[in-house]
Amino acid sequence: MSKQALVPKVEDKVHLDEFDPDYTGNYADEDEAKRDRDKDLEKLRDLQEVFYAEQKHSLLVVFQAMDTAGKDGVIEHVFLGLNPQGVHVASFKKPTEEELGHDFLWRIHPHTPRKGMISVFNRSHYEDVLVVRVHDLVPKKVWKKRYDHINAFEELLHDNGTTILKFFLHISKDEQKKRLESRRDTPRKQWKFMLGDLEERKLWDSYMEAYEDVLSKTNTDYAPWHIVPANNKWYRDYIVTKTILDAMEEMKCEYPKPAENIAGIVIPD
Ligand code: AMP
Ligand code: MG
Repeated sequence: MSKQALVPKVEDKVHLDEFDPDYTGNYADEDEAKRDRDKDLEKLRDLQEVFYAEQKHSLLVVFQAMDTAGKDGVIEHVFLGLNPQGVHVASFKKPTEEELGHDFLWRIHPHTPRKGMISVFNRSHYEDVLVVRVHDLVPKKVWKKRYDHINAFEELLHDNGTTILKFFLHISKDEQKKRLESRRDTPRKQWKFMLGDLEERKLWDSYMEAYEDVLSKTNTDYAPWHIVPANNKWYRDYIVTKTILDAMEEMKCEYPKPAENIAGIVIPD
């Protein structure tokens, strides 16, 4: 693939078939990518300590993907080493009746990160222009306006000091087939095998169309999308780790200064 893994510009109309899910950059070899990822994870861990202490920035990491693309796996691998007190993972499932009685962002907003925190979204408000669109769960005139609502919502979060990183884990339809077969045949994975996933798979093309619109219409400077080649789990983990690390390095976090000169303070016996 000649094109970069990252979506370059907001105006671009994304065509997913131009992004190769097998792409592994300069890495020919899994071990090398894993070594680099592990180094990055160590740096990320150190940075998160300062980020947590400083309480000036917040970070929102959004994962969207087709079934089996690795949302759970990447969350486990990337955030495992961080201080769990500073990380909040929110998984968005089918909305409850209460949630459906409100606007689509109502259930999302309470999970956005306060300063010093990282929120990780396993699925997100984007389901409301993906599954909802593909299954006609609301009329087109309703979901069509949601791209603007989403951009405005994300701009609000950005203006409040939240860095937003959005990852689309891009797998091929063939790779999904292999992974579904593996879920079917491997006892420790069978709990994840859902017949409903096969129904969604039949709608693959409609989902790709819906994703292309998401990636084109909501790729903003303040909340960019990253299209992650995800057929190889090790490359997926490497890219996501590196992207988060780069974003956290840019924050230039510093430990807060003590309120006064504490060096001379005597600790009572
Ligand atoms: P999983 O992430 O595999 O546990 O599955 C969660 C399911 O909830 C998926 O089938 C999603 O498409 C579905 N889901 C998440 N958000 C929404 C939503 N806003 N409307 C309808 N279905 C949703
Ligand atoms: Mg699932």
